[in-house]
Amino acid sequence: MHIRIVGGGLAGSEAAWQAASQGVRVTLYEMRPARPTAVHKTDRLAELVCSNSFRGDKLDNAVGLLKEEMRRLGSLVMRAAEASRVPAGAALAVDRERFADIVTSTLAAHSAITIVREEVAAIPESSEREPVIVATGPLTSDRLSADLARLVGGEHLYFYDAISPIVLAETIDRSKVFRASRWNRSLRGVSATAPDPRTCAVDDGQGDYLNCPLTREEYERFYDALVAAESATVHDFDKEKFFEGCLPIEVMAHRGRDTLRFGPMKPVGLVDPRTGREPYACVQLRQDNLAGDHFSLVGFQTQLKWGEQARVLQMIPGLERAEFVRFGMVHRNTYVNGPTVLRETWQVRSRPTLFFAGQMSGVEGYVESAASGLLAGLNAAALAKGDPVVAAPRTTAIGALAYYVSHANPAHYEPSNITFGIIQPLAAAPKGKKLRNEALSARALADLDAWIAARPEGRALHAG
Ligand SMILES: Cc1cc2nc3c(=O)[nH]c(=O)nc-3n(C[C@H](O)[C@H](O)[C@H](O)COP(=O)(O)OP(=O)(O)OC[C@H]3O[C@@H](n4cnc5c(N)ncnc54)[C@H](O)[C@@H]3O)c2cc1C
Repeated sequence: MHIRIVGGGLAGSEAAWQAASQGVRVTLYEMRPARPTAVHKTDRLAELVCSNSFRGDKLDNAVGLLKEEMRRLGSLVMRAAEASRVPAGAALAVDRERFADIVTSTLAAHSAITIVREEVAAIPESSEREPVIVATGPLTSDRLSADLARLVGGEHLYFYDAISPIVLAETIDRSKVFRASRWNRSLRGVSATAPDPRTCAVDDGQGDYLNCPLTREEYERFYDALVAAESATVHDFDKEKFFEGCLPIEVMAHRGRDTLRFGPMKPVGLVDPRTGREPYACVQLRQDNLAGDHFSLVGFQTQLKWGEQARVLQMIPGLERAEFVRFGMVHRNTYVNGPTVLRETWQVRSRPTLFFAGQMSGVEGYVESAASGLLAGLNAAALAKGDPVVAAPRTTAIGALAYYVSHANPAHYEPSNITFGIIQPLAAAPKGKKLRNEALSARALADLDAWIAARPEGRALHAG
């Protein structure tokens, strides 16, 4: 029983620990320091490339729930994070050097784990007795990326993340926006037959988008502010050419005064019911989660500094008081189209002896990457041992993440952080966001405990 894991980041390290804890031998390949990436600075495993925060740590917060689930599943990343914790209010932040040291020394000391410092240029052979996990992260080396493209099909592998800002629904001024789909092409027609609950949830029978109409004067003011706004300092790799499909709005704006009116701000096919006419320009907002409390600005990927983003985007009618759940960005990010490529168990659909985990599998964030590595490690170990490979319950954060990655709409797939919006809703939810989230967390932990207890190695996980 042997597993090979490529990539010793958050996901690969957690996967190695989980598989080795199940008594399976692991060979973990990490290319640093022989071959560095554009952002990693050390040769340590599980290096945090940017912030030192694992975000919220309370159970009324989805990432807090995910972390608690990982603790119950015996996570090494969580254990190392606790041991290197620094004061950060309600968040879990760590001393990054101590954190990476603990992960590195724990894995190096494990008798079942061999760490090999070399670049893997092609996906290794895999079989039921010797599964492979690829967890090479957003900066997967070029040679391996080329092989991945060959395996999954170039159209299902992305190299840049163009993220549009997301606003909190309750902060949108509904008196200034109207609901409609372009040319009245609502999802209504497909919702009856589409099995994807995200599709059904978006449509309320009146059009799928919230539209913010702009007059000529409003557009001119917005345009002038946009082209004068300050962009974020970018890493070198961000200076590479953008794909035309994910140009930042400010780059488009610099191409001409009307470029946006023929791109993401085009008004054609959208009639404002208050005027009976197409507006001069229009920004569309699309529902971004099942709960319907997040809306993303369609096609509004941007590299503006966050303060500048808020200032400029709040000039859009209806968004004057918008609160931003996430700001837009564009950065290098190698990831697959999860819904097309992966099963809910993190196995590759076309080759179930191969698993993907971490950011390249289509999740976003340190904790989410480690969580996917955790399940991929457990499942690959189960496969190697001849045990059943099972998905975690969709009522848990860790199971909901796996379900999202493998079942979201592939046409608009974007890597996601964990949110309560992707967890199966409660049949009868208490009123109020905090109470609802706490109830979701209570159900998740009860279901996770039952799931762990039913697994062959259940008791060992609890003891972890
Ligand atoms: C610039 C930048 C900033 C970010 N900031 C944040 C942040 O603040 N907070 C957050 O939560 N997330 C952030 N992320 C996302 C972050 O990368 C992930 O959350 C997390 O690191 C992903 O874990 P991972 O294990 O998938 O990848 P990584 O942690 O990157 O690990 C992948 C490992 O695979 C190795 N590798 C790559 N190719 C090969 C190969 N061919 N052979 C062998 N080894 C290979 C790499 O050296 C690396 O060690 C950021 C990403 C980038 C690019």
